[in-house]
Amino acid sequence: MTSVLIKNAFIATADDEQPIIREGSIYVEDDRIVEIGKNVKSKSAEFVIDGKDRIVLPGLINTHVHLAQGILRGLVPDNVTLIEWLRDWVWPLQGNLDENIMDISTKLTLLEMINTCTSSFVATSINARYGVNRVVENVYRSGMRAAIGKQIMDIPGYADHPQMLHQGLIEDPQLSLKLFNDLFSKWNGKDDRIWIWFSPRTPGAVSDDLFRTIAQIVKEKGSGVTMHLAEVRDDIRYFSGRGTTPGKFLKELGMVGRKYVYVHGVWLNEEDMKIFASTGTSVSHNPSSNCKLGSGIAPVTKMLKNGVNVALGTDGGPSNDDYDLIREMKLVLLLQKVSTLDPQAIDVFTVLKMATYNGAKAMGIEKDVGMLKKGMKADIAVFNTRAPHMFPRLQPLSNLMYSGTGNDCTDLIVDGKFLKKEGKVLTVDEEEVYEKADEYAAELLSRSGLKYWM
Ligand SMILES: [Zn+2]
Repeated sequence: MTSVLIKNAFIATADDEQPIIREGSIYVEDDRIVEIGKNVKSKSAEFVIDGKDRIVLPGLINTHVHLAQGILRGLVPDNVTLIEWLRDWVWPLQGNLDENIMDISTKLTLLEMINTCTSSFVATSINARYGVNRVVENVYRSGMRAAIGKQIMDIPGYADHPQMLHQGLIEDPQLSLKLFNDLFSKWNGKDDRIWIWFSPRTPGAVSDDLFRTIAQIVKEKGSGVTMHLAEVRDDIRYFSGRGTTPGKFLKELGMVGRKYVYVHGVWLNEEDMKIFASTGTSVSHNPSSNCKLGSGIAPVTKMLKNGVNVALGTDGGPSNDDYDLIREMKLVLLLQKVSTLDPQAIDVFTVLKMATYNGAKAMGIEKDVGMLKKGMKADIAVFNTRAPHMFPRLQPLSNLMYSGTGNDCTDLIVDGKFLKKEGKVLTVDEEEVYEKADEYAAELLSRSGLKYWM
């Protein structure tokens, strides 16, 4: 049996019954939280963290991660629109990725997420050319929890732009289905940490028949789905061209429900929100990406008011460019306040839940994960508060969200095991990533026929 005791820390639980515990302790045995509160009985453990200079949160949950894009960070100019960004840069790069470059991109992304205290994530758009089994293997070895979305498509387009997809990313739907089935039987549910989902490319890249097939398999197997949706105005033009809206379209195809996570949702209308709310469908909000690509400000407060489960995501290396959820939290707070001209629109507690409990709900694991509470799985994020930007420390949660970054993370525990301990990531080989990332990115750029833009 392994045990961990975190003592005398400021704890933000994401649990409405007891959101804050000052000078609180958490005692963990194996993979579960056994005790939490001001007066825990257990006084010793195999590993003890002195919480004097620490704030403790549930492990953060990133509901939109491109593992293939860690290696693309900074490679794409910052003055192109989404369509150009995809067609002329991101897709040529991803269409030239091979298994070895993907290996380093995956490890780099996992390293950054663990380093910034993310415990769980939803991975999108895993293409056959990336070496799907190796991707899942790397995620498993990192110790994180993840729903991994196998890409599927049968039209090489995007929204109402046909034939737009790069040749290297086109995948036969029968192959995608086969790879999904193989991965599902090998990995799904492994150690309560790995789940295999579908990641349909986008509306405009998947036929109605294929959407129906996906929905049927998901229902039979209890799997999940993640897909980009209503990110830019072009997406809505595609739906209105078909006389429908994103929500109505997906409902008709049976593509709504628990463990359906639609990403961005910037241009959803209220009717769509009601469809998502009534079916338990989730939206992953990615504010940095929406800002950088000029996509718009997602109506988060309106979605929440309508009862939609809104979780948080970072998106990828060329659109954010970091995988740090603490920075994302600040942006949600600021954007919602300024876009509604109302400082009361949203608060730190709501946004903390978006980055934890709502994420767990989106992944369908909220019974075990997403809160610090007795009996829950031990997924725990610990941050340093002994730094200038954290003082005075009377309201550490507010300080962390408005003034901190993920780099303040000192320890991350997932399933009762340390993935980061005393500032050092334990489960991804940092040196290997640093040694290869620059060289592999340069190789990828030249292979794609692209040039340095600066
Ligand atoms: Zn994305």
